[in-house]
Amino acid sequence: MVQHILDTPIEYLKGIGPVRADMLRREIEVSTFGDLLHYYPFRYVDRSKFYTVREIDSDAAWVQLKGKVTAIQTIGTGRTARLAMTFRDQTGETELVWFQGVKWIREKVVAGREYIIFGKPNLFNGRFNFTHPDIEPADEEMLLQTEPLQPYYSTSEKLKSRGFTPRNFVRIMRTLLAQVQQSIPETLSQSLLLATKLMPEADALVNIHFPRDPQALAKAQERIKFDELFFIQLQLLRLKYVRMEKVKGRVFGHIGEYFNDFYHKNLPFELTGAQKKVVKEIRADLGSGKQMNRLLQGDVGSGKTLVALMAMLIALDNGCQACLMAPTEILANQHYKTTSRMLSGLPVEVSLLTGSTKKAARKVLHEKLQQGSLHILIGTHALIEDTVQFSNLGLVVIDEQHRFGVAQRARLWEKSEVPPHVLVMTATPIPRTLAMTLYGDLDISVIDELPPGRKPVKTYHSYEKDRLKVFRFMKEQIEQGRQIYVVYPIINESDKLDLQPLMDGLDTVSRYFPLPEYQISIVHGQLKSAEKESEMKRFLEKKTQIMVATTVIEVGVDIPNASVMVIENAERFGLSQLHQLRGRVGRGADQSHCILMSSYKLTSDGRKRLETMVRTTDGFEIAEVDLHLRGPGDLQGTQQSGLVGLKLASLVKDEKLLKIAREFAHRTLSDDPHLEKPENQPMVMHLKRSEFDWGKIS
Ligand code: ADP
Ligand code: MG
Repeated sequence: MVQHILDTPIEYLKGIGPVRADMLRREIEVSTFGDLLHYYPFRYVDRSKFYTVREIDSDAAWVQLKGKVTAIQTIGTGRTARLAMTFRDQTGETELVWFQGVKWIREKVVAGREYIIFGKPNLFNGRFNFTHPDIEPADEEMLLQTEPLQPYYSTSEKLKSRGFTPRNFVRIMRTLLAQVQQSIPETLSQSLLLATKLMPEADALVNIHFPRDPQALAKAQERIKFDELFFIQLQLLRLKYVRMEKVKGRVFGHIGEYFNDFYHKNLPFELTGAQKKVVKEIRADLGSGKQMNRLLQGDVGSGKTLVALMAMLIALDNGCQACLMAPTEILANQHYKTTSRMLSGLPVEVSLLTGSTKKAARKVLHEKLQQGSLHILIGTHALIEDTVQFSNLGLVVIDEQHRFGVAQRARLWEKSEVPPHVLVMTATPIPRTLAMTLYGDLDISVIDELPPGRKPVKTYHSYEKDRLKVFRFMKEQIEQGRQIYVVYPIINESDKLDLQPLMDGLDTVSRYFPLPEYQISIVHGQLKSAEKESEMKRFLEKKTQIMVATTVIEVGVDIPNASVMVIENAERFGLSQLHQLRGRVGRGADQSHCILMSSYKLTSDGRKRLETMVRTTDGFEIAEVDLHLRGPGDLQGTQQSGLVGLKLASLVKDEKLLKIAREFAHRTLSDDPHLEKPENQPMVMHLKRSEFDWGKIS
């Protein structure tokens, strides 16, 4: 294949050369012409306008000033040195400060000369100053550049010292575009381009760097964002289409006695509307002849387990077995108990398999499983051991999905000739935009309604000064027979030092709640799992009233009598973790409470997190706030999702565009699942060129 001009190494661009090319590679990961072409301006500036020092009255906007540097001074030495300059125009003076690149800037700037500076003012001690502004001599050429929408590229002091000032970037970009403009390939098919009414790729890339006018810029941004989102969706959905085609699912077309008897005789309550909707979705999947891969999202307590149970009964009605896998032994136990209770009186055989199942019991279990007389197996990772063989596994349910890897899921598939249907349940709500991208190859069901009569957990934010009040409240609750969690943020569970706050906290708590009147459980990551289980068990059996713990209790155990959750240093937890923790209470009939303890010093994000928790108990709303605060990059799972490839598009702001992109990806694939048609070749070419390692996310 002839090399495309966009694949030319960047050192061959006029004015770059090997040394500077190396720097671009290291600093901004630009190695080829194509990479540079996709290095977009991070803002557009109007450099036809000059401000004066006196006009600066906010730190909101970037401004350009012309004036003289009147004094230059290096303060401090070595690594902590900073460079300060006084900059003066007709109306006043301001200070310019650098912490990096001190040496080269000092060499470049001469006191007494005229300069143009460009940057964002900071308010410091009641005055505006500039840290790391661009500074360039006020020569004539500079004054000629007056387009209102000039691109501005982000760069580092290191790059600037090698001549990659923002202004030089503009020059380099012009050189690049002059050379490649005619050869920028279109990445979409003609019919897609027509249907979407998007700007052609080459136009978009020219206008993203050098916008003709604001309208053209908007069109260019739209086009580039669309590409970013569209190709992620195309890739994800292609996996799905191929799988649907290759993998035939068992057809569970029959609703029989198991399901109906349970539904009419055993179900102690009416299903919520949301549960009904999801059961319908699952039934449709199971009857479709395609293999089901469905993600079931629902807040803690929304009744996912019940839905899973009904899906399992459909499998049984169609002559198959089902299994349910939980991330911990306690959870597996709990599922086993509730399932057995729910099914009591029905001819369904249920067993439990965990690490602690004795050898003799295991043997019996294996046999029954192979004969098919055991219908439902519930357990932990022990389920995926090779010795566990089903006679006819039709449905796998995985609870609390994020604790299981994709590989483990795959091993369950192999337990049956025809891959079983898979239902993954998670109580970690994620915003739809993120779900569509992270789990784009799964179908998604949402239970967005709690069973009736649930009292939302009351949440408060308290400070250290309120500690005694909090203790008194805890005492009252214990007197009423309730139990209480006290949770500490521990970053590294295996580090003794990190555990100290919890130990100190335990001291304080046990002084206020002394033996023998009060009993306290303690659970953290340094305990052996048997110790952990036994402490949990004491709490579960109401032998202790208080459980002092780290976040190891985050997932899943249902203790309806525990109705108070105290979270220490709550400002240190992320939102989704706070939400998970709060989900441990509010499971019984009593009013539950969550108390978020924090120090007075809060970052604005920290404050926002606590406020959000106090304001709402809606997991999806919380997830949205989380996404806004953190951006998707930090959220679970995104590292390997290709989302890091998003340069312009945002999962927060571009939800509408994402939906459109997904819709068009669907249309494309339903017409041509293997992308074989000639008109789709531009898209295939683009996928081939795109640098994401898609192997990782399948
Ligand atoms: P999840 O797994 O989603 O956290 P569970 O399935 O454990 O929630 O359900 C939580 C509790 O609510 C259980 O005690 C369950 O029996 C009960 N429950 C489930 N669905 C309903 C319903 N429709 N009406 C009343 N209670 C319900
Ligand atoms: Mg659950």
